[in-house]
Amino acid sequence: MNNRLYDHLIFEFSRPGRCGYSLPDNGCPDAISSIPANLLRDKEIGLPQADELTVVRHYTNMSTNNFGVDTGFYPLGSCTMKYNPKINDEMAADPVIGALHPDTPARYCQGALAMYHTLATALAEIGGMAEFTLNPYAGAHGELTGLMLCRAYHASRGDDKRTKVIIPDSAHGTNPASAAVAGLQVVPVKSLPDGTVDVDALVPLLDDTVAAMMMTNPNTLGIFERQIPRIAQLVHDAGALLYYDGANLNPMLGVARPGDMGFDVMHINLHKTFSTPHGGGGPGAGPVGVRDGLQHLLPNPRVVKNDDGTYSVVSSPDAMGRISSTLGNFAVQMRALSYILSLGSDGLMEVGGLATLNANYIKESLRDVYELPVDTVCKHEFVFDGLKDKSTGVTTLHVAKRLLDYGFHAPTIYFPLLFHESLMIEPTETESLDTIDSFIRVMRDIAQEAATDPDKVKTAPHTTPVRHPDDTEAALHPRLTYDELLHLKP
Ligand SMILES: *Cc1c(COP(=O)(O)O)cnc(C)c1O
Repeated sequence: MNNRLYDHLIFEFSRPGRCGYSLPDNGCPDAISSIPANLLRDKEIGLPQADELTVVRHYTNMSTNNFGVDTGFYPLGSCTMKYNPKINDEMAADPVIGALHPDTPARYCQGALAMYHTLATALAEIGGMAEFTLNPYAGAHGELTGLMLCRAYHASRGDDKRTKVIIPDSAHGTNPASAAVAGLQVVPVKSLPDGTVDVDALVPLLDDTVAAMMMTNPNTLGIFERQIPRIAQLVHDAGALLYYDGANLNPMLGVARPGDMGFDVMHINLHKTFSTPHGGGGPGAGPVGVRDGLQHLLPNPRVVKNDDGTYSVVSSPDAMGRISSTLGNFAVQMRALSYILSLGSDGLMEVGGLATLNANYIKESLRDVYELPVDTVCKHEFVFDGLKDKSTGVTTLHVAKRLLDYGFHAPTIYFPLLFHESLMIEPTETESLDTIDSFIRVMRDIAQEAATDPDKVKTAPHTTPVRHPDDTEAALHPRLTYDELLHLKP
């Protein structure tokens, strides 16, 4: 074994009998003897046996191989990888929040319910909606909740013909997936060359079998759908509801509100717009808001404020049902509340403008060397269609990999599917001019390298712990167990 600990699995450090810690005998009878023999394992589980220091070094070394927003710029379009202020974690770690049991009776957790209600009310104000539930656990889970709510709305009117959802071809992949999970049929509507929904193509799709239309605005190309009042009118005239995918609400803060544009139902990702952590499979939150008249359909349980200023947790038979065990990921919600209260309404009003300025600054600084398929003012993000000079054979994948050598995370690539070489960039409002300028410089250097030394770009990354995973092989023959991985070892 070499000294590069990240090249190894914890199993390779295992030595029989080694143990991280020991506990004194607790004097209790052996619990195992009370378990029926047929339920016991007949062979060893095979867990690694290692001392504490080895475990600490192994995982600390592994953790330093991770790229994160705390280690570098992360221009991942659509995902809004903004800085997660440390004050958020401090608030969520308060034992008053962290030690609260989810089943604590309402009368003993009035403060927590007040915080839930404060956040839900702030989101309603920001989204221009009547009420929010914070219960869904992710963006896609919010979409599912919202679509189930649309179904519940039509069912409550005895209208059972509506089984379709119209979704633009530029939409995030979770939109059609959520519609399918909700038992609805997906009907795509195409985009115009400028990236916005083709209203003429939409009109013939609208009839009394449509339950809802889902839209993202600004859409995933970062372009504002100017026809939105007309689309809202058409959808409502057909008796359907208009759903807003507000996973990434960054450009809208302080600028415009989905409720004012005519949307009936929306979700927001707290782990994008409201600075709570993403990724690592960690918890997220996808609160769902509805316009006035749909509140009674929101999932159980709901937090309501009583006339005497106290809070209750209520369930109603009219609701669409339940979509979570309790009131959602409370510690995540508290981080988002911390972000909103730290910025205050003045600070929040600046977010959309700065996010938009940063994106346009990068776009305009690089458009002479990267292909800009839709030439317009963007909002929080934009899409290049690869390098302008296609003759070098350097693709979007190569550019993305080469960025890693320079210490930047790759942008979102090959999404949206509207272009062959999509490279989708979102800087967010939290990056400084210095960081953005150095990203621009590196993107220009890579374009230069592609012209003068294309092989250097095509064989990148050269400096990362893992260089060229074989994506195809990994997808076709995944090796997921320790024994399978051992075969890969030289
Ligand atoms: C991220 C995103 C989603 C999905 O959110 P998850 O929390 O990852 O499920 C949906 N729509 C858009 C536009 C997004 O950017």
